Amino acid sequence: MTPTLELAHELLRRPSVTPEDGGCQALIAQRLAAVGFRVEFMPFNAVTNLWARRGDSAPLFCFAGHTDVVPPGPREHWDSDPFEPEVRDGLLYGRGACDMKGEIAAMVTAVEGFIRDHPDHPGSIAFLITSDEEGPSIDGTARVVETLEARQEKIDWCLVGEPSSHERVGDTLKNGRRGSLNGFLKVMGKQGHVAYPDRALNPLHILAPFLVELVDEEWDQGNAFFPATTFQIANLNMGTGAENVIPGTLTAQFNLRFSTELDAETIQRRVVAILDRGGFVYELIWRLSGNPFLTPTGALVEAASAAVREIMGYRPELSTDGGTSDGRFIAPTGAQVLELGAVNASIHQVNECVGVQELEQLSAIYRRILEKLLVV
Ligand SMILES: [Zn+2]
Repeated sequence: MTPTLELAHELLRRPSVTPEDGGCQALIAQRLAAVGFRVEFMPFNAVTNLWARRGDSAPLFCFAGHTDVVPPGPREHWDSDPFEPEVRDGLLYGRGACDMKGEIAAMVTAVEGFIRDHPDHPGSIAFLITSDEEGPSIDGTARVVETLEARQEKIDWCLVGEPSSHERVGDTLKNGRRGSLNGFLKVMGKQGHVAYPDRALNPLHILAPFLVELVDEEWDQGNAFFPATTFQIANLNMGTGAENVIPGTLTAQFNLRFSTELDAETIQRRVVAILDRGGFVYELIWRLSGNPFLTPTGALVEAASAAVREIMGYRPELSTDGGTSDGRFIAPTGAQVLELGAVNASIHQVNECVGVQELEQLSAIYRRILEKLLVV
């Protein structure tokens, strides 16, 4: 068994359903301390976070990731125990194999190999690992970044090991993510008998035309890196259960995935302007899950693209699609942020798996990126 595969096994054997860490970070810390990293645990509430750094000087290259996993669901839906890793036909199975304990194993062995060859490398290398990426993401990366900012510890390049690849390792690099804004809307009508509509006010009837406007609105046209912003209704609720009652209120949830052409305040203003034209009474509560971020070009994107070309023989594509990631907390510090990990076909599914060969390729790519950025 290769060192990467072996470490992946050890991490997968530690059950760590979010926000649990299951002892994964202690194991990672032990491996990193052995090659000269200074290790700090930064727990916040139920969340375990690890910050480990080797070197004091700039530039600082940081690997970021998470040890928590999504729940595996019923054991009988899996072909093997989700927390008993198993290799079958060249694939390593287990909850977190691909998202993202496999990538963490590859990061650790990449760094171990790099330090063996370059023990006196210029700059610094760090690991920012949290157990709160799959959960609310409040006490994880966001809090560690706050701590680093407070003591003016600055990340220059951050490689997030999320499974970014589409069909082959490194075919896709995520150099940004869309923002995500949620709205919770309550429209007040007046309850009544369906046979006497003039004495009632149906909240859906007054909202509907403006809901259509919100859906049809051209929020922006996107840009070179982002598709156009979209408005999606996630939930719509009303009704008393009786067929002869006009309900008094309606609640709706909606989400906008938005590009760097827009910001949350602008979207909120535009949504309110459309609703206000309806002249009805409503309440609207907003929750911003994440602002969009983008690393259009720069040394990190160039090093990663070149490393993929050298190891894999093809040129990666840049993409900003998919859900949000913890990169959204790191990018606002001014760091260049890039996501590069395994093929994401099985993430959050039963029988999650990663190619054994993918792990070796990732370890080689990560190491090559370090050489390109830190060894001139
Ligand atoms: Zn993940």
